[in-house]
Amino acid sequence: MEKEKIKFDFVRTNYLTRWTCDLCGGCTEKVNVLTEVIEGDEKGLRVCERCLEAGQSKVNDIMRLQVMELKAEAERISKLIGRVVLPSYADWLVAEDQAVKSIWGDTEISEDAPF
Ligand SMILES: [Zn+2]
Repeated sequence: MEKEKIKFDFVRTNYLTRWTCDLCGGCTEKVNVLTEVIEGDEKGLRVCERCLEAGQSKVNDIMRLQVMELKAEAERISKLIGRVVLPSYADWLVAEDQAVKSIWGDTEISEDAPF
């Protein structure tokens, strides 16, 4: 029995930002047209321009590579379980505040700052 096909379409976006590619694990550029699944169980699935450029003949190899990389990453994270010793969030806040003050002194940083 043939697998159900998943069809992608072009979608305009007003957000010029990078979006995750669900096939290769990379991301889009800041483009105006995204390529996504717009209906069905896989609605929202997105593919980047590099995967489109690679084309239909390469897409399965791209996804197989991504599956191998995700499995390797899962194995790496599994080996961390039970071994991680973190500083506290409160200590991080102090370090972050000290870093900001080392850059800006005691100057109040305005929400209206131009950057
Ligand atoms: Zn991609």
